[in-house]
Amino acid sequence: MPQISNHMPTAELQALDAAHHMHPFTTNDELTQKGARIITRADGVWLTDSDGNRILDGMAGLWCMNIGYGRSELADVAARQMRELPYYNTFFQTTHVPAIALAQRLAELAPGDLNHVFFAGSGSEANDTNIRMARTYWQIKGQPQKNIIISRWNGYHGSSVGSGSLGGMKGMHAQGGLPIPDIHHINQPDWWSEGGEQSPEEFGLARARELEQAIETLGADRVAAFIAEPVQGAGGVIIPPATYWPEIQRICDDHDILLIADEVICGFGRTGNWFGSQTTGWRPHIMTIAKGLSSGYQPIGGSIVCDEVASVIGGEEFNHGYTYSGHPVAAAVALENLRILDEEGIVTRVAEDTGPHLRAAWESLADHPLVGEAKIIGMMASIALTPDKSARAPFAAEAGTVGYICRERCFANNLVMRHVGDRMIISPPLVISKQEIDTLVERARRSLDETHAALKEQGLMKAGTRD
Ligand SMILES: *Cc1c(COP(=O)(O)O)cnc(C)c1O
Repeated sequence: MPQISNHMPTAELQALDAAHHMHPFTTNDELTQKGARIITRADGVWLTDSDGNRILDGMAGLWCMNIGYGRSELADVAARQMRELPYYNTFFQTTHVPAIALAQRLAELAPGDLNHVFFAGSGSEANDTNIRMARTYWQIKGQPQKNIIISRWNGYHGSSVGSGSLGGMKGMHAQGGLPIPDIHHINQPDWWSEGGEQSPEEFGLARARELEQAIETLGADRVAAFIAEPVQGAGGVIIPPATYWPEIQRICDDHDILLIADEVICGFGRTGNWFGSQTTGWRPHIMTIAKGLSSGYQPIGGSIVCDEVASVIGGEEFNHGYTYSGHPVAAAVALENLRILDEEGIVTRVAEDTGPHLRAAWESLADHPLVGEAKIIGMMASIALTPDKSARAPFAAEAGTVGYICRERCFANNLVMRHVGDRMIISPPLVISKQEIDTLVERARRSLDETHAALKEQGLMKAGTRD
């Protein structure tokens, strides 16, 4: 058997992939027919595939490649750390310098008294930690019945049994017996799809008050925590109305509920601050981190925990942890990533320079005949595709049909833009230049034009109704 390498023909690699590799969130039989796109290298914001195409990565991998591809500093740090101490655990009263240094740096970056870090290997694992930590917190305080966690429909918190239960993705709940008990979902603040006749401000308040209604129905003595993304990512880059977060903060304060910010996407500069809860104005007790923490160069996640929760949890043995909690190579790489984000002023640039440039270009798409709203915060953005803007109407075709057509046009135009139903979303590397932003938006517009033409040709411009 010859060694499998980038030099093999694409079709051969695709056949081997189809024979042996089961892909996440994929209909594998369909992919076997079509053949997976094979990415061979990447630099900055650009991917190269096995046919030599140069593709603009509008999604930063999976929302994680904040400092861009090809930073050899991270490779050097990883190699150095592997030679010095490739692995040691943090169980059983031991520690090591990379875990110490990363925890210290995160405590410095996180606002307020979020001073303590519990490490995990991913965002899913970190949210599983949060479920157990929030429930254990109330248990130690003598309220074991205060164990319900409230989250939101169409939120995304990971794909393990626990984190998938927190998430509000119905397709995920339908497989494998989710959700676990004592998770309660409320509606999302998606004004475009669900706001009806209300103004965005009224709707934001109304959706926040669903949390208060749920707490009153369930009983505040039963509710441990509320978890949410500052801005829903995988749900379609849903940016809540400005009235939403202040009201959620008030409700959690009034009812003594822990507030957990899932910062896996919004953290590390994505919204123009270090954390999305800062941009959207609220104060969590726990933050979930992953993705941009290492810019995807190593798998690592964690929970940043406030003084009060950490001190209560610290009173007993917390029977929880992962073999790779605080993995030294991952921690060292994450620390180097944070150094680059900071020293190169990347977060500030998103807030003050490239972010506003992307905003102007992105919002200009709102004049396109297919585009309803065009929304953006920092460097995450979405557009709602619609056959009728003034009615905010969905398409008559099954949700996602049109989004998929548009995504395929983007692929053909060498732009990675994702679709969530009939919303198109981007979340590019934070280091994208203004010129590359212009290229991204040009390609997006071209893809929208081609989608519009295809829809007209296929008779798909018909409006449907919301159920
Ligand atoms: C991706 C994601 C997760 C899960 O992280 P994994 O590393 O894939 O387990 C959790 N929360 C949010 C908001 C995410 O986007």
